[in-house]
Amino acid sequence: MKSSSSLRILLTLTSTLCATSVLASKPALADFAENQEQAFSLQALSPFSAETSASLTRLMDAYSDIQKDVGLDQVTKSKHVVFTPVQQVSDEYSETTKFQSYYDGIEVMGDMALHHKSRRGNKKITNYISEFDLQTRPTLSAQQAIAIAKSRDSHNSHLSVSEAPELRILPSYSRHAAKLIYSVKLQGASLNKGSEVLIDAHSGAVIAHLSDVVEIAPIDVLAANDNCQTFDAKGNAALTDPSLCTMLINHNKNLGKVDASADRAAKNSITVLNYYSAVHGRNSYDNRGATIRSVVHLGHNFGNAFWSPKLKVMAYGDGDGKRLRDMTLGLDVAGHEITHAVTSSTANLVSMSETGALNESYSDFFGKMIENKGDWAIGKALFTDPNSKGLRFISDPSLLQATYPDTQGNLKKMPYPDNYSKRLRDRQTCDGSNDRCWVHINSTIPSYAAYLIFQALGKTKTEKLYYNVLTQRLTSTARFVDAKNATVAACQDMYDAASCSKVQQAFAKVGM
Ligand SMILES: [Zn+2]
Repeated sequence: MKSSSSLRILLTLTSTLCATSVLASKPALADFAENQEQAFSLQALSPFSAETSASLTRLMDAYSDIQKDVGLDQVTKSKHVVFTPVQQVSDEYSETTKFQSYYDGIEVMGDMALHHKSRRGNKKITNYISEFDLQTRPTLSAQQAIAIAKSRDSHNSHLSVSEAPELRILPSYSRHAAKLIYSVKLQGASLNKGSEVLIDAHSGAVIAHLSDVVEIAPIDVLAANDNCQTFDAKGNAALTDPSLCTMLINHNKNLGKVDASADRAAKNSITVLNYYSAVHGRNSYDNRGATIRSVVHLGHNFGNAFWSPKLKVMAYGDGDGKRLRDMTLGLDVAGHEITHAVTSSTANLVSMSETGALNESYSDFFGKMIENKGDWAIGKALFTDPNSKGLRFISDPSLLQATYPDTQGNLKKMPYPDNYSKRLRDRQTCDGSNDRCWVHINSTIPSYAAYLIFQALGKTKTEKLYYNVLTQRLTSTARFVDAKNATVAACQDMYDAASCSKVQQAFAKVGM
């Protein structure tokens, strides 16, 4: 490998790539490296693989543009940053190649260079690269990080560590300056009991305690009792661990055969997949035709639904039957959860703080686009009260009250926020006690902006705009301001100036 003071690129060439038509392109790849004086490596730093020689050519073009970007070049000269391609995404408006940055060989969460090429011929690089100074040798050992993660609460002490702790860099985020962190992943016996603990690798402070799953509502608020008591396999392919106490179905296997909940979950999944296919040309959540697996009757009186990015399973509780009904009754709930799966495969927004609120907001927005009934109440069908406004009411968020604990742990109520100035502020540690720094409560701020944009542009233009932003223009630590800028930039690639001015007005109205 040639050492070079200029930007380096690390390409992952998979066996698929070498075995197909791209073989013919290999000399071109070598020429490219030679001409650009870049060091190429075949290390598998990222899961990316160019599937055709055309996509490899586009990748090279994108990389060449990124190298010319002066700002990026300066960053990389001073900071030993390496970029590796991770994803190529396209729709009818633009194509984006995403490059993940590594600092001293450590992944910087959310730091990416995004190369956009619009169908109108405009090229643009969105540079999410942070400036920071960090000691990249951890003070703590991985074993010490595991001990801290397990001592977080009595529940964690029973969990096993699912993989070796990973060092990452969390750029300036939430209430923290840039940090070197350990991600410790803990594995639980039941579906929603795993977690990820982010620990400062120097001080040992816990920055976040994240759940393995992304839910429709704060789990601690709605869950009546999430201990497994129901077992209902009914001859279906079940998860191997009986402690999961669930029925597992595939989206195309259970229609009308088994159980009303399983039938609804399967039908909902098909409706959601059909929406993504017909409106956005997307082939399932991963754009590779993955089967949607759902678990119904999770737990006992469990009033929540979630997507598990790790297990790639959708899960629905039955509700308590008094206030909340079976979670499969809401098509917008299925749309919300499967959109979390789309997000996991694209922007991969981390489920904490403003980023987590964006994640929830995209799920709520697409949930309503999929349901397409003209109302904006999230999960209205889950409530036994026919007059309920649902879990969140995004056309006028403040009509519903949110419950949250103050810093002393006393439960308080406030209207769901419709403006950035009314948001709940981050706590020192984002965890289940504060809805991981208010991902559900603060989600109504960007959701209200989406509603206002919908009112101005109509359904088709708004949903295509939001899809383009979610899949091509955000990175895993995007904040509200990033989402606003990305939406305006996408609009400029897609629509006319009058439309984009309305988009800006909507964000101004919600104070983003
Ligand atoms: Zn959610």
